[in-house]
Amino acid sequence: MIHPFISGNKWRKLKYILLEAKEHQKKHLVTFGGAYSNHLIATACAAAKFGFNSTGIVRGENVENETLLLCRLFGMQLIFEDRESYRDKSLLFKKHFHKNQEAFFIDEGGSGSLAAKGCSELIDELPDVYDHLFCAAGTGTTAAGILSGINRKALSTKMHVVPVLKGADFLKNGIDNLTNGAFFEFHTDYHFGGYAKTSDALLNFIKDFTSSTGILIDPVYTGKLLYAIYDLISKDYFAPESRILAVHTGGITGILGMAERFKF
Ligand SMILES: *Cc1c(COP(=O)(O)O)cnc(C)c1O
Repeated sequence: MIHPFISGNKWRKLKYILLEAKEHQKKHLVTFGGAYSNHLIATACAAAKFGFNSTGIVRGENVENETLLLCRLFGMQLIFEDRESYRDKSLLFKKHFHKNQEAFFIDEGGSGSLAAKGCSELIDELPDVYDHLFCAAGTGTTAAGILSGINRKALSTKMHVVPVLKGADFLKNGIDNLTNGAFFEFHTDYHFGGYAKTSDALLNFIKDFTSSTGILIDPVYTGKLLYAIYDLISKDYFAPESRILAVHTGGITGILGMAERFKF
């Protein structure tokens, strides 16, 4: 609800990063992502809105899709780099921008402690107290920020993290590092085969949820998050009358990348 394209957690993750860019008089945001990256759209739109130029360095071969169309409409220049070169992001930044004093490096997904700080502010805006708070995790930065916010305010709310990718141990370590090892529940059974992998069960869940609530969710993040919560409810995981908060992290354009998977 924060903004249609600088969606959900991406606004919060970019807030302090963009303030830092302004402070250092940088005028050109340079960031990284896959061809369906919500972070690229958010950065492109934020750049346009707050008076920066922007470049997105995209993983893989030159393609066109709805995500990249939106990025270009927001004025972002796109550079495609093969998967091997894409790994070394600071090298790529040097290669393309070493002569450009106005360029500002933003890591893939806007990860790091500034991004986590922005996300922690979500806790200050909650209208109520909840027993459980659930959040989907890609890099885990958003979850780490929220968890820090819970601890800063000494809330009794229990944090639950649903990784959307397989083999998410590195993700747990990342959250531990950003929160000094604060406690959270880690639900690793809801990745549906890995990042951006899906199944008929997940797509059917999304159809049912969306048509019965009017709330759009996506197959990559929030669909898996809500599937997890409903599954845990069906297994009596929660005490009766528990108050559960699901953080909708945005990213609903993700549905466009899977249009052909839906059958009606
Ligand atoms: C980027 C994104 C996430 C993942 O955030 P992390 O901080 O990388 O864990 C979750 N949900 C949506 C919709 C996103 O676009």
